Amino acid sequence: MHSISLKGFVVGAFAFLSGVSAFSQDLIASQAPIDRRLKAVDSVAIQRIIDKTETWSDAGELYTSWNTQNTHCYSSAELPDSFKIDLRGFCMPTPSRNITSRYGYRAAFRRQHKGLDIKVYTGDTIVAAFDGKVRIVRYDRGGYGKYVVIRHPNGLETIYGHLSKQLVAVDDEVKAGEPIGLGGNTGRSTGSHLHFETRLLGRAIDPALMFDFVNQDVTGDYFVFRKNEPSQGNALAQGGANGRGKASTASSGSSQRSFHYYKVKRGESLYVIAGKLGLTVDKLCSINRLRKKSVLRPGQILRY
Ligand SMILES: [Zn+2]
Repeated sequence: MHSISLKGFVVGAFAFLSGVSAFSQDLIASQAPIDRRLKAVDSVAIQRIIDKTETWSDAGELYTSWNTQNTHCYSSAELPDSFKIDLRGFCMPTPSRNITSRYGYRAAFRRQHKGLDIKVYTGDTIVAAFDGKVRIVRYDRGGYGKYVVIRHPNGLETIYGHLSKQLVAVDDEVKAGEPIGLGGNTGRSTGSHLHFETRLLGRAIDPALMFDFVNQDVTGDYFVFRKNEPSQGNALAQGGANGRGKASTASSGSSQRSFHYYKVKRGESLYVIAGKLGLTVDKLCSINRLRKKSVLRPGQILRY
């Protein structure tokens, strides 16, 4: 009974606040300089409500081991049904906006690509996405190449692959934005790029759900991971990767599908966004269950 009423309250609070947010953004359409500050105020209001209602997103409770040798060491760990990830305090790992390969199933290789590839040149500085502690600094000749794994207090672990040089050591504590390596082309890689993964207790989540490299921003202050939501990372289709999911493997092909996300900017129409994403307006509407005349609000997240 307790949890049910809390849940209702949280959902209600979010609905209310997102309404407030859209409203206030509309009001200040011509006052761009204070937009950021107002957004921060909204964040504070949201945080107050979340603090009162949710205490379950504690990374300290999520992880029970500190394994500095084995990257994928969580096969027996039980994921929470949902987990709220705090994305504030992020830093984009690279200023590059050029995504060369997305997360998801690659038919050509018949396997999942569990990260996002971002074009960087050998020697480009790669920085930590959040404050954290370095768990792995290793070389994987047939895969990640020279790579670094960092665990963050928000529950995420981030992986940075194909580096030409690692600049941190195991157990180092790093700050968001601190250089941790240099871009490169090591391991299974053709052409220098950064392979970037975001994982929660071993479960890969599409980084594009949280990190918008094109706009060099996160998709929101928080990201709520949901274990049984296939669009959040395809992990259900992998079977066994998390010690579960065998039954889901046989289920529909929809779990093979991964979406990418686009955050609407002020003044953008469906036509503008469809053009940017290389889609027809019809397609964009059908994916997002929108009508062609739908009015978009800044900050709204579209799937594509
Ligand atoms: Zn990759």
